[in-house]
Amino acid sequence: MNIGVVKEDADGERRVGLVPATVKTLVAAGHTVTIEQGAGLEAGFNDEAYSAVEASIADHAAVIGSCSIIVKVGVPTVTNIMEYKRGTSLISFVYPRRNPEILAAAAEAGISLYAMDAMPRITRAQNMDVLSSQNNLAGYKAVIVGANALGSIFPMMTTAAGTLRPAKVVVFGAGVAGLQAVATAKRLGAVVEVTDIRPETREQVESLGGRFIIVEGLDEVTIEGGYVAEVGASVLAKQQEAVNKSLAKADLVITTALVAGGTAPTLISDEQLALMRRGSVIVDIATEAGGNCASSRADETVTINGVTIIGCNNLAATVPTHASELYAKNIVTYLTAVTNENELSTDVSDEIVSATLVVHNGEVRI
Ligand code: NAD
Repeated sequence: MNIGVVKEDADGERRVGLVPATVKTLVAAGHTVTIEQGAGLEAGFNDEAYSAVEASIADHAAVIGSCSIIVKVGVPTVTNIMEYKRGTSLISFVYPRRNPEILAAAAEAGISLYAMDAMPRITRAQNMDVLSSQNNLAGYKAVIVGANALGSIFPMMTTAAGTLRPAKVVVFGAGVAGLQAVATAKRLGAVVEVTDIRPETREQVESLGGRFIIVEGLDEVTIEGGYVAEVGASVLAKQQEAVNKSLAKADLVITTALVAGGTAPTLISDEQLALMRRGSVIVDIATEAGGNCASSRADETVTINGVTIIGCNNLAATVPTHASELYAKNIVTYLTAVTNENELSTDVSDEIVSATLVVHNGEVRI
C-alpha cells in the first residue's frame, strides 16, 4: 500500500498520524510510506527520524498527489476533503454523526472515508480503538489541568505550620477517561468520588480506590453496543440528588460522561453550580460533544460565582508524543486487519469495515 501522512492544520492539533516506530513496521511489511515535511515536529518526531526508517519526505501536494491512502488525526474539513484526489482512502477521526457535511463532501469528491472513532466496541477491535487510547490520556491530563487551576494542593500534608486536608475530587462518568482521571487523582493524593449510571462501573471505581456514589434504579438503564442508550428521568433525578452533596464539598470536578451517539448529557445545571464552593474548579472534557456542565464552553475558561469552569475539547493533543504513539499503533493494527490484497478492504460483511467505512463509492453509509 502507498500510505501518506499529512501535517495537521487545525489550531492546537499537535498529533501526527504515524510515528517512526510504526512506519518501520509498515515498511517492513512491504508498504511505502510518505510523510509530509514537518508533520511530526510538534509531537517530537523530525523528518530525519522518519527518513531513518525509510519513509519518504515530501511536500503536501506530493503526499496527497502520490498516496492512495492518507492517514490523518483531526477531523478533516470540507476544504481538506476537496483537495484529495478522487479514489483516495482517508483514515481519520471523523465523528460522522456530528459532521454530516464532511460525509457529503467526501461522497461528492469520491473519497472513501474510514472513521476511526466509529470502531465497534468488540473485543477484536480493542487494539484499534482510538477513542479508548486518546480518552485515556485525556482523563489523565484533565486532572493535571484541574490541579494547575486550583489554589490548593491534592495530598494531605502535615507540616510544622499545620496540616492541609486532601483535595476532594468528583468524577462524572467512569468510562476510559473517567477511570484514568480517578487513578491520576488518587496517585496525587486526592479523595475521589465518582458517579456513573452503568452499574458495572462501581466495582471498577472501587478497585481504583474511589468511592462510588450510590444511585438507586441503575438496573433501569439500557446499554446498547457498550453505550448508555436510555436512562429514565427518575434515575437522573436520583443521581442529581445524590451528587449534589459531593458537589458542595468538591475542590475539583471532572466531567467525562457520554451517551449513545456520542452526545454529552447535561449533568451539572446552573442551580447545581451555585452549590459549589468559591475557588473550586470544573474541568469538562465532554465539551466537544456538547458538555456535561450547562455553563461550560468549548476550549474556554469561564468563572461563575468564583467557580472556574474549564472546557477542554482535545486534551489528547496536549500530550502529542504519547497520543501519537498510541494513535499510530491503533492505525497500524487497523491497516493490518482491514487489508485486502494490498488495498484497504471495502468488504462491509466485516463488522469492523462496516462500522468504520462511513463513505464509499459516493455513498454515505450511516
Ligand atoms: P463513553 O466515552 O461512551 O462514556 C463515558 C462514561 O459516561 C460511560 O462510562 C457512561 O456510562 C457514562 N455516563 C453516561 N451517562 C451518564 C450519566 N448520566 N451520569 C454519569 N455517567 C454517565 O465511555 P468509554 O470510556 O468510551 O467506554 C465505556 C465502556 O465501553 C468501558 O467499559 C470501555 O472499556 C468499553 N469499551 C469497550 C471497547 C471494546 O471492547 N473494543 C471499546 C471502547 C470502550
